[in-house]
Amino acid sequence: MKLEAWCEMTRLRVEEYQCPCCGQTFKTDVPVMTKDSFGLQSPIHECGNGYWTAVMRPRTADAKMFWDTII
Ligand SMILES: [Zn+2]
Repeated sequence: MKLEAWCEMTRLRVEEYQCPCCGQTFKTDVPVMTKDSFGLQSPIHECGNGYWTAVMRPRTADAKMFWDTII
């Protein structure tokens, strides 16, 4: 799926993320889908697994209720 179509479907926007480790700026332009969320993730780069971010949106009613309680 194209990024634009993904953003439209999930109503997510590509955000910028500055890595606190190397200071580089990345865009969250990698579509991801988990069991209960849609998201856009920044690429995992040489700083490793701990240094990326994602914007997520719940897919299911249950997940949405859960998210509503923590946000
Ligand atoms: Zn980094």
